[in-house]
Amino acid sequence: MKVTVLGPNLSSKHQAVAQFHVHKTGCADILRGFTRDERTQSSDWEVAKRADVAEHYYGRSAGGFFEEGGGLDRYPSYEKFLDDMSYEFHFAPCVKELK
Ligand SMILES: [Zn+2]
Repeated sequence: MKVTVLGPNLSSKHQAVAQFHVHKTGCADILRGFTRDERTQSSDWEVAKRADVAEHYYGRSAGGFFEEGGGLDRYPSYEKFLDDMSYEFHFAPCVKELK
């Protein structure tokens, strides 16, 4: 599914919900619910699951926020780490089929 992720510098109203907001690309709520400034801080990603979204922002591909055996070794696995980071993201109803 192609998603549009808005953030991280959103209005306090959105920030209170989550750092990043995830919508299906083209969702009407993006135009309706976010200011133009907020919409300039968005990226489109093709993802298969929720953890893929976290991967783009916090994973190895984002420059090593997670380092195996490093400061984040409290995580039993990379998958668990990504799963935990998913809480930084609010998944809107339009992407509810993403697991
Ligand atoms: Zn939406």
